[in-house]
Amino acid sequence: MSDPESLIRTLIRPAVQDMQAYHVPPSRGLVKLDAMENPFGWPKELVDAWVERLRGVQLNRYPDPSASALKQQMRRVLGVPGNAELLLGNGSDELIQLLGMALGGERRTVLTVGPSFAMYRLIALFTGMAYVEVPLRAGDFALDTEATLTAVDAHRPAIIYLAYPNNPTGNAFDRQAVESVVRAAPGVVVLDEAYHAFCGESFAGDLARYPNLLVMRTVSKMGLAGLRLGYLMGHPAWLEQLEKCRLPYNVGVLTQLSARFALEHVEVLDAQTARIREERERLLAGLQAMDHLRVWPSQANFITFRVPAGRARAIHQSIREQGVLIKLLDGSHPMLEDCLRVTVGTPDENRQFLQALTRAIQ
Ligand SMILES: *Cc1c(COP(=O)(O)O)cnc(C)c1O
Repeated sequence: MSDPESLIRTLIRPAVQDMQAYHVPPSRGLVKLDAMENPFGWPKELVDAWVERLRGVQLNRYPDPSASALKQQMRRVLGVPGNAELLLGNGSDELIQLLGMALGGERRTVLTVGPSFAMYRLIALFTGMAYVEVPLRAGDFALDTEATLTAVDAHRPAIIYLAYPNNPTGNAFDRQAVESVVRAAPGVVVLDEAYHAFCGESFAGDLARYPNLLVMRTVSKMGLAGLRLGYLMGHPAWLEQLEKCRLPYNVGVLTQLSARFALEHVEVLDAQTARIREERERLLAGLQAMDHLRVWPSQANFITFRVPAGRARAIHQSIREQGVLIKLLDGSHPMLEDCLRVTVGTPDENRQFLQALTRAIQ
């Protein structure tokens, strides 16, 4: 029994053996513009009030399993339609996993477009589902309606994921195109609105019209990435089934209490996201003013751009050596060749990034 390798080969499911773990690069000491985090902290009075609130927490008790106070607060401030039910996850990543557990298994398919969010594929594979990816249109990353509808018809997916706006391309797909997919889908369509705060557009208002539509969001990108809190909105009958796969205490007391507190002061987060949107336009202009780049406009809090052929890796490395961490997209998808992605930071961080990029690209 000294060597686990042969046991692993027989026991770990082949789909899992074939997977690569999701890699998070070290970021210590770097200006962190790789993970779509909000760069702004809270004012001191707010931090003090939050810490004061934490004194009341009973860490010896399990959290409220239904998180009812938090859900009420979320309904009040996050624009949850009155007729929709809410399901909370430990980040929206956990909600994607939960959907895979409830709808997944043999001969069930996840369909999405590509390039898009990496977790759709990873979670499809480890929940035993087949994975189908329809390429976006080369050039502008628009939804290829005809190809998508053809694939939906051929594969009859149990779940379709559409990130709106899409990560890592930053664009929000055409509304009519999305609705034609929802109408044609034989299964559920999950609109992943992780970047809702930076876009303004939403499908939450369409939930009542489409019985197979679910809308997923997260508080991560609006400034609370450390809390791990995602939410799914949809018809109560759907969510009643999905609830069965949720572990009873998946959202801890610290997250419930801190999220309630943060949402009581949602105007602080709203002001920060408004600033990020302004900074995004400044950063976009800065990138567009540079030679040799192809830059895509964005409705999210990041910008994707293409550098001259064959140089993405070296440029990424040079920017990191200058103290700024961004995301290397080259190598992750054929349509992202020579591409990098930068998260919108503070004005100072964005300046540092543009300066580092200018040096790297010379
Ligand atoms: C960041 C991201 C998520 C994950 O959000 P968490 O709530 O932090 O797990 C989901 N979908 C997309 C498209 C994202 O970019």
